[in-house]
Amino acid sequence: MRSIAILGATGSIGTQALDIIEKYPGRFRASALAAASDSRGLFALARKFRPDACALVNECEIPDDLKHISWFFGADSARRMVSQVPSDDALCAVVGIAGLGAVLDAIDSCKRVLLANKEALVTGGGLVMEKARRKKCELLPVDSEHSAIFQCLKAAGDNAPSRLILTCSGGALRTWDKDRIDTATVSEVLAHPTWRMGSKITVDCASLMNKGLEVIEAHHLFGMPAEKIDVVIHPQSVIHSMVEFEDGAVLAQLGNPDMRGPISYAMAHPGRISYGGARLDFKKLSALTFDEPDTGRFPCLKYAYNALKTGGTAPVILNGANEEAVASFLRGKSRFGDIARAVDYALNKCEIKPINSEEDIYAADQYARQAARDKLKALGAED
Ligand code: NDP
Ligand code: MG
Repeated sequence: MRSIAILGATGSIGTQALDIIEKYPGRFRASALAAASDSRGLFALARKFRPDACALVNECEIPDDLKHISWFFGADSARRMVSQVPSDDALCAVVGIAGLGAVLDAIDSCKRVLLANKEALVTGGGLVMEKARRKKCELLPVDSEHSAIFQCLKAAGDNAPSRLILTCSGGALRTWDKDRIDTATVSEVLAHPTWRMGSKITVDCASLMNKGLEVIEAHHLFGMPAEKIDVVIHPQSVIHSMVEFEDGAVLAQLGNPDMRGPISYAMAHPGRISYGGARLDFKKLSALTFDEPDTGRFPCLKYAYNALKTGGTAPVILNGANEEAVASFLRGKSRFGDIARAVDYALNKCEIKPINSEEDIYAADQYARQAARDKLKALGAED
């Protein structure tokens, strides 16, 4: 029986992980659950999964029947919970840089880390990977592309990869022209063609920022330089990513676009379990197509590559400005096209510094957010 702390329990990844736990009651147990403000959602999960501990960012009144659970409150509640409450694994599925501290603390407390929270690697990849090495902590990717690459590398044994190829659905606006992309509405952007996910990552998919963040994530997880990480548009989302080797051979991992695949793979690693999803039916696949990403219409991918090549706090600035601009877009305060403008502005405006500590990361994040707010305001954002 493996006990798992689920950080981001009420979200898209968290609830899908809990669905798998429910299917395998003798094999997994949700020992701790963390969320931000969805107290009603967390109470319902706590009643169903009976964890030892729960954490909420926003403090609230706890119902009598849940008072026997250990409760943690505040901005660092997930961090304290993951440090203090024993479990074998921690599924880190908080969205944004807000999850970085809990990833570091999960490693510090020697838990096996199932990592969905890509922004933790984008902003703190150097610190996270160094700590994981030092603590001999197993870090398993949950992001589908990185899970695919991890599986391909495992299948390749000792052969080192020469190139990683990340596939990308292209997002909801893949075929749109530049002017239409600029003024896409929230509901148009959230209509992702192949994956059902939280709102922030779905916006990132439409801008191709998600793929940019994933390039940086792949760099940290697999130690590959930006020049050896390619992105290819693959609208069917059947090939989850690929690895090329010295002789030109390419290994790919395929499956239906269902996040329970990579989540269950990380949970059951080194084994595999059935999560009950539909099997890939090759006779029904009419075509698998591939295309070059268009960074003219989707410049965020280019900004992410540049930030990775620049190094230091550049990826933190990219991420902080993006989080700020995406939140403003989702609140209906700014245009979709302003996300790329705010990120570009912040990257040019903020001084790039080396990262020596977690504090360096949060300082750069704050500068980037302020720069993004300034730019959005200048562009006519309503608040
Ligand atoms: P959601 O928005 O659906 O869920 C986010 C979760 O994080 C919620 O449970 C939320 O709680 C919680 N949360 C937010 N801030 C905090 C905080 N400070 N402390 C504790 N909990 C917090 O996001 P997703 O599940 O879509 O994504 C989670 C992560 O996984 C992201 O980094 C994303 O990029 C990555 N990912 C997601 C995929 C997907 O299919 N969804 C695919 C690949 C990667 P509350 O509900 O209370 O707000
Ligand atoms: Mg992904």
